[in-house]
Amino acid sequence: MPEPIAYLDNAATTRMHPEVAAAMAAVSAYANPSSNHTPGRAARAVLEGARARLARYLEVAPEELVFTAGATEANNLAVLGSVRAARVERPHVVTTAIEHAAVLGPVRALEAAGASVTIVAPAPDGRVRAEAVAAAVNERTVLVSVMLANNETGAIQPVREIVERLQGHRPLVHTDAAQACGKLAVRPADLGVDLLTLSAHKAHGPRASGALWIRRGVRLEPLTYGGGHEAGLRPGTEHLEAAVGLAAAVAIAVDDLERNVARMRGCTDRLRTALSAAVPGLHWHAEAAERLPNILSVAVPGVDAEALLMQLDGAGVYCSTGSACTAGSLEPSHVLEAMGIAADVIRATVRLSVAADTTDAEIAHALAVLPPVVERLRALA
Ligand code: PLP
Repeated sequence: MPEPIAYLDNAATTRMHPEVAAAMAAVSAYANPSSNHTPGRAARAVLEGARARLARYLEVAPEELVFTAGATEANNLAVLGSVRAARVERPHVVTTAIEHAAVLGPVRALEAAGASVTIVAPAPDGRVRAEAVAAAVNERTVLVSVMLANNETGAIQPVREIVERLQGHRPLVHTDAAQACGKLAVRPADLGVDLLTLSAHKAHGPRASGALWIRRGVRLEPLTYGGGHEAGLRPGTEHLEAAVGLAAAVAIAVDDLERNVARMRGCTDRLRTALSAAVPGLHWHAEAAERLPNILSVAVPGVDAEALLMQLDGAGVYCSTGSACTAGSLEPSHVLEAMGIAADVIRATVRLSVAADTTDAEIAHALAVLPPVVERLRALA
């Protein structure tokens, strides 16, 4: 019998869906999609087929999609590309304190190059207020970037409402939907945004695959230069399997959305109820906010989260303290800090994230392991 495990780090990466893996394995085109011969045209057809499929599921035009090597690259292209293309002296950018480093990083780089930046803080519930974002916009603002859902707390952000408040002459609006895809509808038309970032591996697709949707007519400056691939915005020979995998993952995410959300909600409700009963003193972050169905962020007072993760890892329960990209650094979570959470509570916080393929056995294993591990650590403290 294999040792039981509970993989509860799906906000970091999900397992690949078997249909996604099959679609990628079925790619037999071997030529360069830019080559003008029969196998080259066959490869081009695979790439454009993936783009058309993704476009159909997002209800956008295929030529509005640029394939990237994930959400980090898509966010950088959206933020740097749109602000540089605006060619404004001292451009102004508005974003939030809870964005992923893949947005905050390029925003900081723009600031270092002379842009002015307003970082809007969230309310203690983990949501930014649409009126606070709108109030930060001025006549020099060229870009507003607000994520659709936060990767640490799952708090859903009021992107549609922000766009509505910016009617008339308004800056471009970008949303990072990397975490939202597969848990919320991510159709750009519903949100009213100009730029939208996707990542395949958060929704059962391959790692290092994503896309940026760019509303027709929006101009971006490329970050890299080379051939004219992807409308000149992402030069380099295209990764067919990655594109096919992303399209397949988004198709499943859209087709199975309701069923998957119900499944994830069931898992997180069960974890939350059972852990609240078994472990005294838990504090659930972003409780008052509308949240994604798959993420729980919980402080376990009296316990050091890093020590807890190590003990859980040894018992086959895999979770994290928050963003995988900042894990390993001992920096406290900038998201929880911005929400006004005390440093000792942040140090006691872990993130449990499920997916549609999380099994009842995984939930049962986590529930069997967590309470006694916490009790032991508390006794030692
Ligand atoms: N944006 C958000 C909200 C994320 O959670 C992540 C991944 O942690 C990223 C961007 C980066 O995505 P990728 O790993 O596809 O570059």
